[in-house]
Amino acid sequence: MKLLISSCLLGEDVRYDGGNSSIAMGAKFTFSQKELFMDILCDNEIYSFCPEVSGGLSTPRPAAEIVSANKPFKVLTKEQEDVTIPFLIGAKNTLDLCLKEGIKVALMKSKSPSCGNIKIYDGSFSDSLVDGQGLSAKLLEENGIVIFNETQLSELKKFIKTNS
Ligand code: SF4
Repeated sequence: MKLLISSCLLGEDVRYDGGNSSIAMGAKFTFSQKELFMDILCDNEIYSFCPEVSGGLSTPRPAAEIVSANKPFKVLTKEQEDVTIPFLIGAKNTLDLCLKEGIKVALMKSKSPSCGNIKIYDGSFSDSLVDGQGLSAKLLEENGIVIFNETQLSELKKFIKTNS
């Protein structure tokens, strides 16, 4: 199955802080999670994508949070720089790739203002989470693409098995 994966989860240094969120190498993941992830990588056609880099943002870049999660969307850095447009471009580019390649499922980094699928930071830069989605995850889901995050690898594997 074709599977879009947030580049940072694959170990690419595209995070805002210049690092990555590698599942395979990350200390916070158990051996069985890493094994499961490697199985998923080996059994599927992987498309690595970072919406924020695609949207034109540099790495490293200032941390940003969603201040308005509904139209008109607003994404600001901690220094109050408006980065909404690159976030929206990144979301559009992510959807375009999925539509062009027929990708129906994605594994995306949790809590990100682009990739988060269940919770995001609340816009106050105080480490507080609220229910919500990043702009790319939201656009993909609105277009019927099913999203899992890195804590949902078992659910992702089941989904792939059922839908392959
Ligand atoms: S935009 Fe997504 S893929 Fe890019 S660094 Fe943030 S969480 Fe990772």
